[in-house]
Amino acid sequence: MSSDKLEKRRKKRMATLVTQAGRAPFDHFGFVNPPVYRGSTVLFPTVADLEGLRQPYTYGTKGTPTTRALETAWSEIAGAADTVLVPSGLAAISLALLTATKAGAHLLVTDSAYSPTRAFCDGFLARFGVTTQYYDPAIGAGIAALIRPETTAVLVESPGSQSMEVQDVPAIAAAAHEKAVCVIIDNTWATPLYFPPHERGCDLAIEAGTKYLSGHSDILLGLVSANPRWAKRLRHTFNLFAMGVSPDDAALALRGMRTMSLRLKEQGRAALEIAQWLATRAEVARVLHPALPGHPGHDLWKRDFSGASGVFSIILNPAPKPAVDAFVDGLELFGIGYSWGGYESLVLPFDCAPYRTATRWTPEGPALRFSIGLEDVADLKEDLEAGFERLRGEG
Ligand SMILES: *Cc1c(COP(=O)(O)O)cnc(C)c1O
Repeated sequence: MSSDKLEKRRKKRMATLVTQAGRAPFDHFGFVNPPVYRGSTVLFPTVADLEGLRQPYTYGTKGTPTTRALETAWSEIAGAADTVLVPSGLAAISLALLTATKAGAHLLVTDSAYSPTRAFCDGFLARFGVTTQYYDPAIGAGIAALIRPETTAVLVESPGSQSMEVQDVPAIAAAAHEKAVCVIIDNTWATPLYFPPHERGCDLAIEAGTKYLSGHSDILLGLVSANPRWAKRLRHTFNLFAMGVSPDDAALALRGMRTMSLRLKEQGRAALEIAQWLATRAEVARVLHPALPGHPGHDLWKRDFSGASGVFSIILNPAPKPAVDAFVDGLELFGIGYSWGGYESLVLPFDCAPYRTATRWTPEGPALRFSIGLEDVADLKEDLEAGFERLRGEG
């Protein structure tokens, strides 16, 4: 596509963009979606072509028209210079960290990060002499005081996994860039639809495509996008690993993308309605949802985000474990399981205390995370209402 046309498309609103991005029907006989290209070897007509680096595709590990369509689409949506696809969200995290790390480096990682991120830093990067220091997610511009000469990257995740703290990403990015430190964001919760990661100052942005991009709990996928400063280094590191995704998964993700704006809007609306209802319940001590005015970081959320997705947490008032288990086990519409962002509602008991190191997690009672799906809100509320009866020992 001409850069003029691409520029015009980039200016479209998000709901339009997700239907248009990455499409080039007339490269594929007019079919609306790119076909699934399977392939390892790519043939060159002549030695001159082989030597001339003129072909857009050279080998399967470097991508196919199917994977390229998704990469291009995501770059448009995220406002990025480039995007690479990897087999899971966690692989996206490790690739981003490896792009911005070297032996002897120092990393700053938010204490609210997805806990497998910590496991990768402490269990793998540490073996290569990389030191990870965890910081209070509320640190904001104060991150400057933690930056050392050997610091290569700051990782932010906003809101934090399970605990939902909103970070001052622009302030952190400004402080990091003053010292030429790379800013990596795990943007899975908001997606670029609700938080434009590169516009807010992040160099590398991670999305677990497993969640809202796929939207149907049927694939694992990770994406890392980069701004112009980091695009070359990201692509180079990606090529060294050749850790790509299948064309089938890329095609499914593209299909998910076409309804992503609609799903996010509905799931976000339903989640907020349920969160507001939960906040009125006597059994609930606190609702951790950035769009609720009482939430710490609500003002930052209002300033930097254009919406909220369908995941939030609650802290129950103290209750015996068997009662909480009965609440959860008896739910008919909420599955108990990891991951989120699919069309079906999920619930997960959690405890951040065991892995926090820079801050303390001291909830009033048991904590639950919800991912709200596309069911009718009235049915979800009825299901939860029956759960509260079990919690009170009346069910
Ligand atoms: C789920 C998740 C990931 C990892 O994605 P997978 O595809 O399951 O590996 C990364 N970051 C966050 C915030 C997540 O919730």
